[in-house]
Amino acid sequence: MYRLSRLVILSILAALATPASARAQQAAIPTPESSLGFAVGADFKLATYDESIAYFQKLAAATNRLKLIDVGKTSTGHSWTLAIISSPENLAKLDRLKEIAQRLAHPTGLTDADARRLAAEGKVFVDISGGLHASEIAGSQHTIQLAYDLLAHPDDPKTKAILDNTVLMLWPSINPDGQNIVVNWYRENVGTPYEVSPLHELYQKYIGHDNNRDAYMLNVVESRVVARTWREWEPQIIYVQHQTAPFPTRIWLPPFAEPIAPRVPALMSRQVNTIGMTIAQALESNGQVGATHMGTGFDAWYPGYIDYTPMLQNINAYWTETALYRYATPHFYTLDDFPRDMRDLRPQSLYPSPWPGGWWRLKDAVDYMRTASMATLDYASKYRDDILYNRYQAGRNAIKRYSAEPPYAYVIPQSQRDPGTAAEMLRRLAFNGVRVSQLDRDVTIEGTMRHRGDWVIPMDQEFSELVRQLFEVQEYPDLREYPEGPPEQPYDAAGWTLPFQMDVNVVEVRSPLTSDARTAMRLVRGKPTDWHASADAPFSTDSIASGIVVPPASISGSGDRLAVDPAQNDAFRLIAQALAAGGAVRAAPAGRGQGVRYVVSGVPMSRLEAWARDLSLRAERVSSGGAGVPAARLRIAVFKPWTASMDEGWTEWLLDQHGFRYTVIAPTDVRAGDLGLRFDVILMASDSPRAITDGFSAGSVPPRYAGGIGDAGERALDAFVRAGGTLVCLNQSANFAIDALNLPVKNVVAGVARKDFFASGSILEAITNPAHPLMAGMPEHAKVFVDGSPAFTTLEGFEGSAIAKYAAAGSPRLSGYLLGEKYLQGNAAALDVKHGRGRVVLIGFRPQWRGQPFGTFRVLFNAILFGHDAAEGASGAAGFWAAPKPAAPPR
Ligand SMILES: [Zn+2]
Repeated sequence: MYRLSRLVILSILAALATPASARAQQAAIPTPESSLGFAVGADFKLATYDESIAYFQKLAAATNRLKLIDVGKTSTGHSWTLAIISSPENLAKLDRLKEIAQRLAHPTGLTDADARRLAAEGKVFVDISGGLHASEIAGSQHTIQLAYDLLAHPDDPKTKAILDNTVLMLWPSINPDGQNIVVNWYRENVGTPYEVSPLHELYQKYIGHDNNRDAYMLNVVESRVVARTWREWEPQIIYVQHQTAPFPTRIWLPPFAEPIAPRVPALMSRQVNTIGMTIAQALESNGQVGATHMGTGFDAWYPGYIDYTPMLQNINAYWTETALYRYATPHFYTLDDFPRDMRDLRPQSLYPSPWPGGWWRLKDAVDYMRTASMATLDYASKYRDDILYNRYQAGRNAIKRYSAEPPYAYVIPQSQRDPGTAAEMLRRLAFNGVRVSQLDRDVTIEGTMRHRGDWVIPMDQEFSELVRQLFEVQEYPDLREYPEGPPEQPYDAAGWTLPFQMDVNVVEVRSPLTSDARTAMRLVRGKPTDWHASADAPFSTDSIASGIVVPPASISGSGDRLAVDPAQNDAFRLIAQALAAGGAVRAAPAGRGQGVRYVVSGVPMSRLEAWARDLSLRAERVSSGGAGVPAARLRIAVFKPWTASMDEGWTEWLLDQHGFRYTVIAPTDVRAGDLGLRFDVILMASDSPRAITDGFSAGSVPPRYAGGIGDAGERALDAFVRAGGTLVCLNQSANFAIDALNLPVKNVVAGVARKDFFASGSILEAITNPAHPLMAGMPEHAKVFVDGSPAFTTLEGFEGSAIAKYAAAGSPRLSGYLLGEKYLQGNAAALDVKHGRGRVVLIGFRPQWRGQPFGTFRVLFNAILFGHDAAEGASGAAGFWAAPKPAAPPR
C-alpha cells in the first residue's frame, strides 16, 4: 500500500507541469459547490467522507499544489486519504523535506549549527484535521473549504508565503467512518421531528469518542494509522478541530486549563500557548468574537489525547473547540439562554469580546475554523526557522536531561507473571517512536543481575518524556473550586501508570548505566523506514514493534489435556479457540496455595500445543479427572444500550481481540424475555442505570431507538438469573443490578458528596482471593482502575462472597486521585452474589477501561467462564468454589 502510494506520488511528481501550464491549471480550480451541490456550511447540508474525497480528487486533478496519499484503512476497511498541500517546488522535493523533518525529530549526532542549517532549509509540516469526533461536524466540512481557499488563490501574498514555507498535511477527516455515519444519520432525519437526534451508535468502531483517548495505547487500527503517518512525516505542528466550546463562548483555544501533564516540554507548552493567542488575535481581526482560553474544562493532564500525546514527542500539539448547535441545523440564542453570570457581557482578560447571542450556523463554525487553521499556517510560515529548530532543541534537551539525571533507564525483565503483556506494553512504546533495547548477555545493573533477553529503555533519547509520563506514578494536584470547597474534577483520568494498569514489573534505574551494561544492550529492530509496515495488523506482525518478542512457550508434563495459567492474558485466546473448536474448559485448583488454572480438553493435544506455542504460553499437559466442571458450550450476550456506549464498545473490542464469540443484544431483546433459552451469560458494560433502563426519552430520537429495557426488561433479567443464568455487571451497571434485581447489597459511596468522597480515573489496590475462580490468575494485591466506581457492603440475606476488597486501613490509592479513603476501607470491590439458582457478578471497577488495564482483563474473562460453569453444574462445583475464604477479614 505504501509502495503503491509512493509510486503514485512519483508519477505525479514526474507529471508536474511548467509554471505556464500551472497558471493555466489554476483557472480551473473547482469550487466545493460545483462538486458537492451546495456551499460548504450551508444550512441543513453536510458532505459525507466519500463526497469530500471525490472533491479532493477533483482538486488533485486541477492543481500541482496538492497530492493525495493513501495512508491505510480504517477498522471497517474503508480507504483513508491524506492531502498534502504546498508549493509545487516543495512538493517536488518532498523526500528531502521529510528527511529534514526526520533529522530534526531525532537529534542524535546533530550539532546546534547543523540543526540551524537544516531549519533554514526545511519547511514546517503542519498537520490539521477535522472530524475526529464525527458529530462535531464542522471540522470535516471546514477541511474542504480550507483546501479550496489555499489552492484557489495561491498568489495572494499570505497564501503564497504559507505554500512556500509550510507543507500542510490536511486530513479531510481523521475519522472517515464517523463522517459517513453522522452525515447519513442527519440526512435520514433532517426535516423530521428527529432532525437533531443524537446517534444511537458509536461513530468509530468499538470506541466512538474515545478515539481521542487511545494515542499512547494504540489499541485500534485508526490510532495506529495516524501514529504511523506521523512517525513517517514527523510534523512539527498537529492541530485537531473539535466543537464543544464552553457556552456561550464561540471558540475555546489554548492555553489549556490546569493542570497540564507534568512531563510535557516547556518549550512546546510555550509555543502552543503562543499559537492559541495568535488564533485569537486573527479571529478578532476578522470580527469573529467570543474566543476564550484556559477556564475550568479542557485541562491537559491525561496524556492519551491524539492531539496532546505528541507534545511528549516534542511536537506542538493542541486542539480547539468551536461552538456547535447540532449538525447543520442553525440555532438562535438570546441572553436568556446564557448562564446568569455571563449575561452582563463583561469583557474579561481572556474573553475580551463576549459573544452577544444571535444566530449560530454551521457556516459560522466553519468560518471560525478556517480562520484558526489559516492563523496556524500563517504562524508556521512566519516562524518557520524557530519552529523547526525548537523541534530539534526539545529532543536534544530530553537527551541531555536524562544523560545527567534519573531515571537513566527502565529495565523490564522478561521474567514476568505475564510476559506477553510486557511485550504488548513495549510494542506500543516502540510504535510511538521509543527505542527499546535488549540485553544480549547477563549483566549487573544497580546491583541486580539482569538477564539476557531483558528489555532496557535508556532514557537518553528524544521521546523519553513520553516514557516517563506513562511509567511514573501520578499525583493529581489537589485543586479546589474554592478554598475548603470540593475538588476540581479532572477532565479525564487522574492516574494511568501503565506498569500498574498492565501489571508489568518495570524497574527504574536511578544511577547512570555502566559501560558494561551499555555494551550488552542491542537496539530492538526499528528504523523510520519500518513505519509503513502494516498498521492494520496486530503489533506482533510486520511492524516496527515486531522486534519485541515474547520468550517461547514452555509445555511440560504428560496427558491428554492442557492446563494453562490464567495469569497470562493469551491463555484466554487459547481458551476461546478451544471453545470455538468444540472443546471444553474448566477451572481447577492449580495446587495448594497456587490459585486456579484452566484445564482444556476435547481438542487434540497436537492442536492445543500448536496454539500454546503460537501464543508463547506456559502450559502443562495433565491427565483426565480432577475437580471442576466441564463447559460444554458457552453462550455469551453483550448488552448494548441505544445510548452509544463506549464501554460496551470496548467490551466488544476485548472479546474480539481474544477470539470470544458473543451476541450483541439490544434493549428490545431484553424486553422480549426468555433470555435463558438463548444465553448462559449476559454481560453489561459500565453504563448508568438510566441509560440501561430508560435510554433516550420518547420523542428525542426516532421511536425505534427510544427507551431502555424498562420494567419488562428488569423482570426478564431477574428471571434469567433466578433460573440459573449469570449476569456480569461492570462498574456503574452494578448500581443497575442492585436496584433492578433487589440484591441484598449496598453501594456505600452512592450519594456521598463530592467534597467528602471523590475517585475518578485512578488506580487503586484491591485485595483479591486468587483461589476463587473469578480471580483466577490475579495477584493477591491487585491494581484496579476505578472511575466513578461503586464499593459494596452486603445486607441481610446476602449469599455469595466478596472476591475483592479494599484493605481495612490506609489508602488504597496507587496512582491518580482519591479523596475519602475511609469510604472504601474494608468494603468490597467485587462480589459474587447468589440470586435464585444463578448469580450476579458485580465488578466495582473497570476491568477493560479503554483497553488499558491488561492486568484485569482476566477478571472479565473469568466472570464469563465462571458464570457458565455455575449455570451448568452447581453440584460438581460446590466442593471447590462454593465457599471461598475471603482474603480480607469480614467486617
Ligand atoms: Zn471533540
